[in-house]
Amino acid sequence: MRYKLSKSTFIRGLQCEKSLYLYKKHYKLKDPTSPSLQAVFDQGNQIGVLAQSLFPGGVDATPSSHFRMMESVMKTKAFLESGESIIYEATFNYNEVLAALDILVKDSEGWKAYEVKSSTSVSQTYIKDAAIQYYTIINSGIDLVDISVVHINNQYVLDGDLDIDQLFTIESVKDRVLDYLPEIPSEITRLKNVIELDSAPNIDIGLHCHEPYDCDFKGTCWKHIPEYSVFDISNLNKKKKFDLYNQGITTLDQVDLSQTKLSENQILQVESEVEGKSHINKEEIKKFLNNLKYPLYYLDFETINPGVPKYQGLRPYQNSIFQYSLHVKQSEDSELIHKEFLADPKKDPRVELIEQLISDCGDSGDILVYNISFERSRLHELIEQFPKHKAPLQCIIERLKDLMIPFQNKWYYTPEMRGSYSIKSVLPALIPELSYNDLNINDGGTASSTFQSMINGSFKGDELSTRKDLLEYCKLDTYAMVKIIEKLKKSQ
Ligand code: SF4
Repeated sequence: MRYKLSKSTFIRGLQCEKSLYLYKKHYKLKDPTSPSLQAVFDQGNQIGVLAQSLFPGGVDATPSSHFRMMESVMKTKAFLESGESIIYEATFNYNEVLAALDILVKDSEGWKAYEVKSSTSVSQTYIKDAAIQYYTIINSGIDLVDISVVHINNQYVLDGDLDIDQLFTIESVKDRVLDYLPEIPSEITRLKNVIELDSAPNIDIGLHCHEPYDCDFKGTCWKHIPEYSVFDISNLNKKKKFDLYNQGITTLDQVDLSQTKLSENQILQVESEVEGKSHINKEEIKKFLNNLKYPLYYLDFETINPGVPKYQGLRPYQNSIFQYSLHVKQSEDSELIHKEFLADPKKDPRVELIEQLISDCGDSGDILVYNISFERSRLHELIEQFPKHKAPLQCIIERLKDLMIPFQNKWYYTPEMRGSYSIKSVLPALIPELSYNDLNINDGGTASSTFQSMINGSFKGDELSTRKDLLEYCKLDTYAMVKIIEKLKKSQ
């Protein structure tokens, strides 16, 4: 029997009927998957496979292709008939709904279902996701005694070999599933009717475009929103943005400041855009610059944060530095020196990195970073992991200063920054000739997922040239900081 809904299209339809309709009828309109999102999916798949080791020795009902899901249903049926008691990717089809379950196990108490998630807790969406599985499985004749979400235990610390039983938490969700279960049949009917419509349901954009997931049809539905709009007003909560949108206000010049409650910085953003004016608080910038002590260092870390910790002493999703770039100016007029570190993906780089960082940073002068809390936290974590190096790392921490401050406080703001004070917005606004766009790797997420794929062995491509791309990217982050300081000085 064919199926009309799968577990994922069911969840999609609960989020937005239009998304379900477009997915089923106009799949080509779907936005391409970004490399960072793909990396999240890939990690989820790897964690799913790893979780199978919680129940070793099972049989696998995975189909030969994603387009042949009915093959899995047939395989599952055959496995059940032949008395198998552990089935991976067990798949069931009932009432034209297809649901694939990560692990189905029969023990002395009966059949138990396990759905693996790479997150660290159970969300309401996971309950609905488990409920559609439970519904499909029990109606296929399997008398489930329990259903659980298997998720990552964020308290786990890698100590010796990876301990799968500690890495994962198995949380029964049966009670919550049973609470939601009565709604399932009517929801299935509603969503099947959506698929049968002659045209897409008339649904406007709204909070549902981002909750629970970022919708992948924004490229279609959000076409009428200008490139720079009220949705870019910095730190304005989503509901307020949609309140403006629902009043027909999309561009910043349409915002009536006498009617709209905004913060001081948000007002500055709107006024700056409308009047095309920059805002420069020379006095505060002067104080900031006068407070910098040479030799001046410009430091930036790149990190990975895998769900399954790679190095001893790390927790799941804990950040770990794999690369840094450091520019140094001994004095205001001296030549610019560059130093850098990029880990060997085959080994734990931390001790080597710490030793080189301590040596590269010398022992005096300020160390500028962009968003101090990130670099400071990473250094504190290194102290925790390698207390032997506490004194020199603590010294580095005490020398840190944050170049983000003048922009975060809007002491220097231009309309081109579009309300953002991230270095990716500040740099092109201040120094348009210096851009990340020409680089092969041009954002931290891609740098991180690229290096992570090198560690996992899933990297495809020329590792040598990609390492150069990583170095170029990180180097630009600190070079940009050098140029930003120059620009701030010129503004005096
Ligand atoms: S972008 Fe928003 S309105 Fe459009 S399909 Fe997605 S959730 Fe629905």
